[in-house]
Amino acid sequence: MCLRFSYSLSLPLLFLFFLGSIPSILTQQNEDPTIKTMQDFSGYPVVEPPHPFVSNSLSVDAQTLQKQIDELSTFSDTPAPSVTRILYTEKDVLARSRFIKYLMGLAGLSVREDAVGNIFGRWDGYEPELAAVATGSHIDAIPYSGKYDGVVGVLGAIEAINALKRSGFKPRRSLEIILFTSEEPTRFGIGCLGSRLLAGGEALAKALKTTVDSQNISFLDAARSAGYAKDQDDLSSVFLKKGSYSAFVELHIEQGPILEEEGVSIGIVTAIAAPASIKVDFEGNGGHAGAVLMPSRNDAGLAAAELALSVEKHVLESGSIDTVGTVEGF
Ligand SMILES: [Zn+2]
Repeated sequence: MCLRFSYSLSLPLLFLFFLGSIPSILTQQNEDPTIKTMQDFSGYPVVEPPHPFVSNSLSVDAQTLQKQIDELSTFSDTPAPSVTRILYTEKDVLARSRFIKYLMGLAGLSVREDAVGNIFGRWDGYEPELAAVATGSHIDAIPYSGKYDGVVGVLGAIEAINALKRSGFKPRRSLEIILFTSEEPTRFGIGCLGSRLLAGGEALAKALKTTVDSQNISFLDAARSAGYAKDQDDLSSVFLKKGSYSAFVELHIEQGPILEEEGVSIGIVTAIAAPASIKVDFEGNGGHAGAVLMPSRNDAGLAAAELALSVEKHVLESGSIDTVGTVEGF
């Protein structure tokens, strides 16, 4: 579900939204019950004192940002306008080093990478011992995808920091941009791989020691060929300490039609999909069409079709507009 604002917010304002100065303005200006403060969204009190910084001096260089998005889309294994950038392939490695880390460096961020290639670009605040405010997304792209998925949350974040720097802003807390490794499950069948490790996924760290792709290349060998996981099989170094971040926000394109159809330029995500999938095998008997009559037929395809329709019926009957059940790969 997305809550909608009655007017649009630009990227830097989205940042400021988290820094604590905008929410009170929003509630005063409009009594629409769908408009909520950060405190309402998070359930936590917003304790940051208002920052003296004046936000109307901010301006995003949209032209340069668009050019960067276009250029990053050329790091692809399929021709434009499609983008295919699979984890740890040559194009992925080049996009990371020649483009993202380069732009982070240009923005004056200190860059570090962990053992699976999560990339962090940090702008130290004037109280650097405080937990940082982070933002970021991914740049891996499923086969024949578009150029904005994930990319907007990384390049947009770099431009947001550039805009803040141009305006003379100095953050109290450090601001950090994170490029998450392998949000897409394309190569190893594991989605949100980097972020799940950052969150301390011990079972995942263990499983990755024996994970292979469809070519039987192990995750660790692939990571090493991309310059990560150097001599180590133990990926626990990726786990973040509790309290590393005080807040996180991700800018992402809408991957459905709702905002576009309603002409709304930005929404705030209050819940995120938690996909679960089940693989079901159907076995039947082949039978010559016209010769094996209906009472004797046992068609696997039709049984699968009945399951597909049952899934749809069940989801519709749940009455929830947020629940999605689909069947694919007959
Ligand atoms: Zn994405």
